[in-house]
Amino acid sequence: MDLKYDLHMHSTFSDGTDTPQGLIDLAKASGLAGISITDHDTTIAYSPDLFTYAKEQEIELIPGVEFSTIFEKRPIHILGYCFDLENEGILQLVERHKARRRERNQQILERLDKIGMKITEEEITSKGQNSIGRPHIALVMVEKGYVETIADAFQQYIGDEKPCWTQGRQFSVQETIEAIHKANGAAVFAHPILLKRQNFIKKVATLGFDGMECYYARFSKEQSKAMFKIAQRYNLLVTGGSDYHGSVKEFNRMGSSYTSQEALERLKNVR
Ligand code: AMP
Ligand code: FE
Ligand code: FE
Ligand code: ZN
Repeated sequence: MDLKYDLHMHSTFSDGTDTPQGLIDLAKASGLAGISITDHDTTIAYSPDLFTYAKEQEIELIPGVEFSTIFEKRPIHILGYCFDLENEGILQLVERHKARRRERNQQILERLDKIGMKITEEEITSKGQNSIGRPHIALVMVEKGYVETIADAFQQYIGDEKPCWTQGRQFSVQETIEAIHKANGAAVFAHPILLKRQNFIKKVATLGFDGMECYYARFSKEQSKAMFKIAQRYNLLVTGGSDYHGSVKEFNRMGSSYTSQEALERLKNVR
Protein backbone atom coordinates (compact mmCIF):
# COMPACT_ATOMS: atom_id res chain seq x y z
CA MET A 1 0.00 0.00 0.00
CA ASP A 2 1.22 3.48 -0.81
CA LEU A 3 2.02 5.67 2.14
CA LYS A 4 0.39 9.11 1.96
CA TYR A 5 1.73 12.31 3.48
CA ASP A 6 -0.43 15.44 3.60
CA LEU A 7 2.16 18.21 3.70
CA HIS A 8 -0.03 21.31 3.93
CA MET A 9 -2.39 22.24 6.78
CA HIS A 10 -2.97 24.90 9.44
CA SER A 11 -3.48 24.72 13.19
CA THR A 12 -4.94 27.10 15.78
CA PHE A 13 -1.48 28.77 15.85
CA SER A 14 -2.39 30.45 12.53
CA ASP A 15 -5.82 30.36 10.89
CA GLY A 16 -6.90 26.74 11.32
CA THR A 17 -9.56 25.58 13.77
CA ASP A 18 -7.90 22.33 14.94
CA THR A 19 -5.13 22.16 17.54
CA PRO A 20 -1.84 20.50 16.48
CA GLN A 21 -2.82 17.39 18.50
CA GLY A 22 -6.22 17.46 16.80
CA LEU A 23 -4.50 17.47 13.40
CA ILE A 24 -2.51 14.37 14.36
CA ASP A 25 -5.71 12.62 15.52
CA LEU A 26 -7.45 13.46 12.25
CA ALA A 27 -4.42 12.35 10.22
CA LYS A 28 -4.57 8.96 11.96
CA ALA A 29 -8.31 8.66 11.36
CA SER A 30 -7.73 9.59 7.70
CA GLY A 31 -5.20 6.81 7.17
CA LEU A 32 -2.23 9.10 6.53
CA ALA A 33 1.36 8.02 7.26
CA GLY A 34 2.48 11.54 8.10
CA ILE A 35 1.73 15.24 8.02
CA SER A 36 3.41 18.62 8.05
CA ILE A 37 1.74 21.46 9.94
CA THR A 38 2.46 24.50 7.77
CA ASP A 39 1.17 27.44 9.78
CA HIS A 40 1.43 30.89 8.18
CA ASP A 41 4.78 32.47 9.13
CA THR A 42 5.26 30.50 12.36
CA THR A 43 6.74 27.19 13.54
CA ILE A 44 5.46 27.46 17.10
CA ALA A 45 3.28 24.33 16.81
CA TYR A 46 6.43 22.18 16.83
CA SER A 47 6.98 21.53 20.51
CA PRO A 48 8.89 18.46 21.75
CA ASP A 49 5.57 17.23 23.24
CA LEU A 50 3.96 17.32 19.82
CA PHE A 51 6.69 15.11 18.33
CA THR A 52 6.19 12.68 21.24
CA TYR A 53 2.43 12.66 20.66
CA ALA A 54 2.87 12.06 16.92
CA LYS A 55 5.20 9.14 17.63
CA GLU A 56 2.68 7.58 20.02
CA GLN A 57 0.01 7.88 17.35
CA GLU A 58 2.40 6.49 14.69
CA ILE A 59 2.10 9.60 12.55
CA GLU A 60 5.33 10.97 11.08
CA LEU A 61 5.51 14.68 11.88
CA ILE A 62 7.53 16.62 9.30
CA PRO A 63 8.78 20.14 10.23
CA GLY A 64 7.04 22.70 8.02
CA VAL A 65 5.97 26.32 7.62
CA GLU A 66 4.20 28.49 5.01
CA PHE A 67 5.94 31.83 4.50
CA SER A 68 4.21 34.85 2.91
CA THR A 69 6.23 36.58 0.18
CA ILE A 70 5.66 39.03 -2.67
CA PHE A 71 6.89 38.69 -6.25
CA GLU A 72 6.05 41.37 -8.81
CA LYS A 73 3.44 42.77 -6.42
CA ARG A 74 1.62 39.46 -6.10
CA PRO A 75 1.48 37.28 -2.98
CA ILE A 76 3.43 34.02 -3.29
CA HIS A 77 3.33 31.41 -0.52
CA ILE A 78 6.43 29.32 0.12
CA LEU A 79 6.35 26.01 1.98
CA GLY A 80 9.50 25.14 3.91
CA TYR A 81 10.08 21.49 4.93
CA CYS A 82 12.55 19.37 6.87
CA PHE A 83 14.54 22.38 8.05
CA ASP A 84 16.24 22.79 11.41
CA LEU A 85 13.50 24.18 13.70
CA GLU A 86 16.10 25.85 15.93
CA ASN A 87 17.90 27.60 13.06
CA GLU A 88 18.61 31.23 13.95
CA GLY A 89 17.73 32.57 10.47
CA ILE A 90 14.34 30.86 10.48
CA LEU A 91 13.56 32.08 14.01
CA GLN A 92 14.51 35.62 12.96
CA LEU A 93 12.33 35.45 9.85
CA VAL A 94 9.40 34.29 12.01
CA GLU A 95 9.95 37.27 14.35
CA ARG A 96 10.10 39.72 11.44
CA HIS A 97 6.82 38.33 10.10
CA LYS A 98 5.23 38.78 13.50
CA ALA A 99 6.12 42.49 13.41
CA ARG A 100 4.91 42.74 9.81
CA ARG A 101 1.55 41.23 10.72
CA ARG A 102 1.09 43.53 13.71
CA GLU A 103 1.76 46.64 11.60
CA ARG A 104 -0.35 45.50 8.72
CA ASN A 105 -3.32 44.43 10.83
CA GLN A 106 -3.23 47.89 12.38
CA GLN A 107 -3.32 49.50 8.92
CA ILE A 108 -6.25 47.33 7.85
CA LEU A 109 -8.15 48.14 11.07
CA GLU A 110 -7.59 51.87 10.43
CA ARG A 111 -9.08 51.51 6.96
CA LEU A 112 -12.08 49.61 8.29
CA ASP A 113 -12.52 52.24 10.99
CA LYS A 114 -12.78 54.96 8.31
CA ILE A 115 -15.84 53.25 6.82
CA GLY A 116 -17.48 52.81 10.22
CA MET A 117 -16.39 49.26 11.02
CA LYS A 118 -14.76 49.63 14.43
CA ILE A 119 -12.59 46.71 15.49
CA THR A 120 -9.92 46.73 18.20
CA GLU A 121 -6.61 44.92 18.18
CA GLU A 122 -7.74 42.91 21.23
CA GLU A 123 -10.80 41.69 19.33
CA ILE A 124 -8.69 40.18 16.57
CA THR A 125 -5.93 38.80 18.80
CA SER A 126 -8.59 36.99 20.84
CA LYS A 127 -9.48 35.01 17.69
CA GLY A 128 -6.09 33.37 17.34
CA GLN A 129 -2.97 32.32 19.16
CA ASN A 130 0.01 33.36 17.15
CA SER A 131 -0.06 34.30 13.46
CA ILE A 132 -2.93 36.76 13.38
CA GLY A 133 -4.11 38.12 10.04
CA ARG A 134 -7.00 38.76 7.73
CA PRO A 135 -8.89 35.53 8.52
CA HIS A 136 -9.14 36.67 12.16
CA ILE A 137 -10.24 40.18 11.11
CA ALA A 138 -12.89 38.57 8.90
CA LEU A 139 -14.18 36.49 11.82
CA VAL A 140 -14.67 39.62 13.95
CA MET A 141 -16.37 41.40 11.02
CA VAL A 142 -18.89 38.54 10.85
CA GLU A 143 -19.34 38.46 14.62
CA LYS A 144 -20.05 42.20 14.78
CA GLY A 145 -22.53 41.97 11.92
CA TYR A 146 -20.50 44.13 9.50
CA VAL A 147 -20.67 41.32 6.90
CA GLU A 148 -22.58 38.06 6.63
CA THR A 149 -19.76 35.69 5.81
CA ILE A 150 -15.97 35.45 5.85
CA ALA A 151 -16.05 35.25 2.04
CA ASP A 152 -17.97 38.55 1.93
CA ALA A 153 -15.37 40.19 4.17
CA PHE A 154 -12.62 39.23 1.71
CA GLN A 155 -14.62 39.91 -1.44
CA GLN A 156 -15.79 43.36 -0.42
CA TYR A 157 -13.21 44.76 1.98
CA ILE A 158 -10.00 42.97 2.90
CA GLY A 159 -9.20 40.61 0.01
CA ASP A 160 -6.17 41.41 -2.20
CA GLU A 161 -6.53 44.87 -3.81
CA LYS A 162 -9.86 45.53 -2.04
CA PRO A 163 -10.55 48.94 -0.41
CA CYS A 164 -9.42 48.10 3.15
CA TRP A 165 -6.48 45.92 2.13
CA THR A 166 -2.81 46.89 2.33
CA GLN A 167 0.20 44.87 1.30
CA GLY A 168 2.28 45.64 4.37
CA ARG A 169 6.04 45.17 4.64
CA GLN A 170 7.34 42.82 1.98
CA PHE A 171 9.53 39.73 2.01
CA SER A 172 11.03 38.49 -1.24
CA VAL A 173 10.81 34.95 -2.62
CA GLN A 174 14.61 34.85 -2.90
CA GLU A 175 15.40 35.80 0.70
CA THR A 176 12.81 33.32 1.96
CA ILE A 177 14.15 30.43 -0.13
CA GLU A 178 17.65 31.33 1.03
CA ALA A 179 16.64 31.24 4.71
CA ILE A 180 15.05 27.80 4.26
CA HIS A 181 18.13 26.50 2.44
CA LYS A 182 20.49 27.84 5.09
CA ALA A 183 18.45 25.88 7.66
CA ASN A 184 19.01 22.73 5.55
CA GLY A 185 15.41 22.64 4.40
CA ALA A 186 13.53 22.28 1.12
CA ALA A 187 11.57 25.18 -0.40
CA VAL A 188 8.34 24.38 -2.23
CA PHE A 189 6.20 26.70 -4.38
CA ALA A 190 2.76 26.51 -2.65
CA HIS A 191 -0.50 26.10 -4.60
CA PRO A 192 0.74 27.55 -7.93
CA ILE A 193 -2.67 26.64 -9.31
CA LEU A 194 -4.20 29.58 -7.42
CA LEU A 195 -2.10 32.03 -9.44
CA LYS A 196 -4.00 31.04 -12.58
CA ARG A 197 -1.75 32.61 -15.27
CA GLN A 198 0.58 29.93 -16.64
CA ASN A 199 3.27 32.35 -17.78
CA PHE A 200 3.47 33.88 -14.33
CA ILE A 201 3.57 30.42 -12.71
CA LYS A 202 6.48 29.46 -14.97
CA LYS A 203 8.34 32.63 -14.06
CA VAL A 204 7.93 31.95 -10.32
CA ALA A 205 8.90 28.29 -10.82
CA THR A 206 12.40 29.38 -11.89
CA LEU A 207 13.22 31.37 -8.74
CA GLY A 208 15.17 28.61 -7.00
CA PHE A 209 12.60 26.26 -5.47
CA ASP A 210 13.25 22.57 -4.82
CA GLY A 211 9.66 21.53 -5.39
CA MET A 212 6.20 22.57 -6.47
CA GLU A 213 2.85 21.73 -4.87
CA CYS A 214 1.15 20.19 -7.91
CA TYR A 215 -1.62 18.37 -6.08
CA TYR A 216 -3.77 20.72 -4.09
CA ALA A 217 -7.13 20.57 -2.34
CA ARG A 218 -10.10 20.29 -4.64
CA PHE A 219 -8.52 20.90 -8.03
CA SER A 220 -9.20 18.62 -10.99
CA LYS A 221 -6.88 16.03 -12.53
CA GLU A 222 -6.41 18.26 -15.58
CA GLN A 223 -5.39 21.24 -13.48
CA SER A 224 -2.94 19.13 -11.47
CA LYS A 225 -1.52 17.70 -14.68
CA ALA A 226 -0.78 21.16 -16.04
CA MET A 227 1.17 21.92 -12.83
CA PHE A 228 2.94 18.54 -13.01
CA LYS A 229 4.18 19.39 -16.52
CA ILE A 230 5.65 22.69 -15.35
CA ALA A 231 7.36 20.94 -12.41
CA GLN A 232 8.90 18.38 -14.76
CA ARG A 233 10.09 21.04 -17.16
CA TYR A 234 11.88 22.95 -14.40
CA ASN A 235 13.12 19.84 -12.61
CA LEU A 236 11.12 20.41 -9.40
CA LEU A 237 9.98 17.75 -6.94
CA VAL A 238 6.24 17.13 -7.04
CA THR A 239 4.41 17.53 -3.73
CA GLY A 240 0.79 17.59 -2.62
CA GLY A 241 -1.21 18.89 0.31
CA SER A 242 -4.77 19.72 1.26
CA ASP A 243 -4.29 23.17 2.91
CA TYR A 244 -6.73 21.89 5.54
CA HIS A 245 -7.92 24.73 7.83
CA GLY A 246 -10.69 22.88 9.72
CA SER A 247 -14.23 24.21 9.74
CA VAL A 248 -13.39 27.60 8.20
CA LYS A 249 -12.52 26.13 4.78
CA GLU A 250 -14.77 23.18 4.19
CA PHE A 251 -13.49 22.28 0.74
CA ASN A 252 -9.95 21.61 1.92
CA ARG A 253 -10.42 18.11 3.35
CA MET A 254 -7.41 16.56 5.09
CA GLY A 255 -5.74 13.98 2.86
CA SER A 256 -7.56 15.13 -0.27
CA SER A 257 -4.12 15.77 -1.77
CA TYR A 258 -0.89 14.20 -0.62
CA THR A 259 2.82 13.66 -1.24
CA SER A 260 4.31 10.25 -2.01
CA GLN A 261 6.88 8.62 0.24
CA GLU A 262 9.43 8.84 -2.55
CA ALA A 263 8.97 12.60 -2.99
CA LEU A 264 9.15 13.08 0.78
CA GLU A 265 12.46 11.18 0.97
CA ARG A 266 13.85 13.46 -1.72
CA LEU A 267 12.64 16.56 0.14
CA LYS A 268 14.53 15.34 3.21
CA ASN A 269 17.70 14.96 1.17
CA VAL A 270 17.84 18.13 -0.90
CA ARG A 271 20.50 19.58 1.38
P1 AMP B 1 -3.03 37.00 5.56
O1 AMP B 1 -2.05 35.94 5.91
O2 AMP B 1 -3.41 37.87 6.69
O3 AMP B 1 -2.63 37.79 4.33
O4 AMP B 1 -4.37 36.23 5.14
C1 AMP B 1 -4.30 35.28 4.10
C2 AMP B 1 -5.14 34.06 4.45
O5 AMP B 1 -6.51 34.43 4.38
C3 AMP B 1 -4.99 32.92 3.44
O6 AMP B 1 -3.96 32.07 3.78
C4 AMP B 1 -6.31 32.22 3.53
O7 AMP B 1 -6.30 31.27 4.56
C5 AMP B 1 -7.28 33.33 3.90
N1 AMP B 1 -8.05 33.80 2.74
C6 AMP B 1 -7.60 34.46 1.65
N2 AMP B 1 -8.61 34.76 0.79
C7 AMP B 1 -9.75 34.29 1.35
C8 AMP B 1 -11.14 34.27 0.97
N3 AMP B 1 -11.55 34.82 -0.16
N4 AMP B 1 -12.01 33.67 1.80
C9 AMP B 1 -11.59 33.12 2.97
N5 AMP B 1 -10.31 33.08 3.37
C10 AMP B 1 -9.39 33.66 2.59
FE1 FE C 1 -4.71 30.33 5.70
FE1 FE D 1 -1.27 29.49 1.16
ZN1 ZN E 1 -1.87 27.19 3.58
